[in-house]
Amino acid sequence: MSQLGHLEAGSRYDLRVGLSPDAPDEEDLRDDEGVFGYAHSYETSSRYDGPGVRVVLFLSGCLLRCTYCHNPDTWHLKDGTRVSVQQVLDRLKSFAPALRSLDGGLTISGGEAMVQMEFTRRIFAGAKDMGLHTAIETSGFLGDKVDDRFLSVLDLVLLDIKSSDPATYKKVTGRELAPTLRFAERLAKIGKPAWVRFTLVPGQTDDPANVEGIARFVAPMKNVQWVEVQPFHQMGAFKWKAMNLEYKLVDTPAASPELTKRVIDQFRAAGCNAR
Ligand code: SF4
Repeated sequence: MSQLGHLEAGSRYDLRVGLSPDAPDEEDLRDDEGVFGYAHSYETSSRYDGPGVRVVLFLSGCLLRCTYCHNPDTWHLKDGTRVSVQQVLDRLKSFAPALRSLDGGLTISGGEAMVQMEFTRRIFAGAKDMGLHTAIETSGFLGDKVDDRFLSVLDLVLLDIKSSDPATYKKVTGRELAPTLRFAERLAKIGKPAWVRFTLVPGQTDDPANVEGIARFVAPMKNVQWVEVQPFHQMGAFKWKAMNLEYKLVDTPAASPELTKRVIDQFRAAGCNAR
């Protein structure tokens, strides 16, 4: 097993690979104790990943393979740094007073944080002990595995719904849509605050019927405070090249302001609080 590494401050756009070569495959991880986990990096002052100013921790491991993924270097645990919950919390502690005074908190993103479910839960529990607001960004694909104990340490779920059409979802992510919708319905049922995020990719997810499907699904959910439309960009393209992965969106343009407005308006017309 790898030695513990150094948890690096940086950016989601830093390329990090091969840092824990003897880590298990994502599918094989047994994270029952969750004292140790694998992380890509953290950012210290995001204003986009939940309310206020936030520390965002990017964990390694994801079971989806989104065609537009900006961070393919978070797919595998072996590309991350092995760290302990205590290391993460020690680092977080130094930011806690500022985060509290700026109405922010901790967001755990990825990759997919739920791949390391217990590791994530322990970090959130520690963050709550510091009086911090907690948010997870997730595809919801592993939502069926979430228990009440996990939900109890979450103040907000940033749920990525990448498509409303199962065939499109499969084409764009390589996985099934149904678990994400089930998780969304469960969050709505218990009234867990959520922001739904939709990545707008020209030619892949921008079909009006696709957008309409998500809008109609989300509009009645009173727990959904925001629908956030995230325009596709090419800032992660260099990672695919550096990792020798086949990137199919080389010629896909960034989502234009006009297209983005059309989609936001579509969500609003359905009754969603969209931006
Ligand atoms: S869920 Fe996120 S990290 Fe995983 S492949 Fe999709 S965009 Fe990338």
